[in-house]
Amino acid sequence: MIGTDGFTTSQLIGMLIAASLYLLTYLSFVRLLRHWRNWHSPTRSSSLVTAGLALATVAHISLSSLGISFLALILAVGFIACLFSMIAAPAIAFKPTAPRPVVEFFAKHAETTGLCMIPPAIFVGYMVPNPKLLGMLVTAAAIELVWFLRNRGVARKSYPFEKNDLLVLKTQANGNVAGFAKQHSISELKISQNGDISWLGCNKNSLPCPLSHYLHRLGLNTPPCCREHIADLGRFVAGCLQDIGAIHWIDGGTLLGAVRENGGLLAWEDDIDISVLLDDDTTWEKLCSSLSRRGAKDGYYVDVFKEGGFITVSYDKPRTWPFRWERNRMRGEIHLDLVSYRYAENNGQPVLERQLLKGAMPVMESGWHGVPVDIILPTSTINFLGPNIPCPNQPEAFLQILYGDFGSAELTYVDENAAKNRADIDLEHVT
Ligand SMILES: [Zn+2]
Repeated sequence: MIGTDGFTTSQLIGMLIAASLYLLTYLSFVRLLRHWRNWHSPTRSSSLVTAGLALATVAHISLSSLGISFLALILAVGFIACLFSMIAAPAIAFKPTAPRPVVEFFAKHAETTGLCMIPPAIFVGYMVPNPKLLGMLVTAAAIELVWFLRNRGVARKSYPFEKNDLLVLKTQANGNVAGFAKQHSISELKISQNGDISWLGCNKNSLPCPLSHYLHRLGLNTPPCCREHIADLGRFVAGCLQDIGAIHWIDGGTLLGAVRENGGLLAWEDDIDISVLLDDDTTWEKLCSSLSRRGAKDGYYVDVFKEGGFITVSYDKPRTWPFRWERNRMRGEIHLDLVSYRYAENNGQPVLERQLLKGAMPVMESGWHGVPVDIILPTSTINFLGPNIPCPNQPEAFLQILYGDFGSAELTYVDENAAKNRADIDLEHVT
């Protein structure tokens, strides 16, 4: 039986199955990226599901009643491997390590790299008469085109630079801000004809600024838009926790900023840390369902990592399922880490402990990381970006455990040369 455009009905069904299998593989893969974005390896179960779907896609395309087509096999595997490597680059680049030029190149062009796979897809689709392969290529090309178009042309508000931010920018740029912006493709930097420098800020509808790259690799300060959104995110989550009566406090770099910057953010802050105590009143399930419900209602993306006992809440709006996971392709993100603690005993002493390591927090008998209860409870309050917010009972003692001598300006994760360039400014700022 002949179907439309010269394909038989069975060929059309084969194309449709290939398209569906590719779509499922793609969705499973972009969901997997959430782990890399949070500096963790993907779980075994989610890796196996993605690998199984990819295998089913390739097997469906290369196997037929005539046997195996090695050409279709090689083309399908090669295409998926190349495209998925590009898609994964921004998530892999989230963790600051030694420079990885290839990963960083693809991360830098995350909105457009998928498009460069369209010409080879058209060429292969035209040259190789395999309807199932064609079904996969057309689906992949359509997804990449939609991803590109969706991220185009969102209006942005212009922000002026604060004195210290501008000083750091000019120092890292060695005085040539225009050249620096061009060299590193910093599209947010705008220089007027009279030399005024401003920043085209991110917002709920645009892609977030690539904070990790600007802060850790280039050694810049947190852009003004992101600082505003970080504060907004902190207020949103603290408000949710207060509403459900959860015991919570600011943690890590956020507490460090509140103590050392008199209620402000660290100049190079890339996220916000809040911790919450799980007990009989605030269970993990209650916490997750409350935050997910409020996030969906108020426009914040909530992602739950049960295996690590933490939740990330991001400033970007959650999109409709199943495409909500496509956000993991974004190069930037403004997010809050909400880490859970529990009551425990260590060598007979009451402690509060968490699964994830923070700073130099000691290892407990359980293998988790913890501090004596009285360092944190009962919580106190501290000025943080205006209003008071809960903090550990002994904030200085807590910071001492995490960071040792926390009074000195130490840039964590920032590229060695970029950190050296700005060292004098930071020394002057802190002292
Ligand atoms: Zn921003």
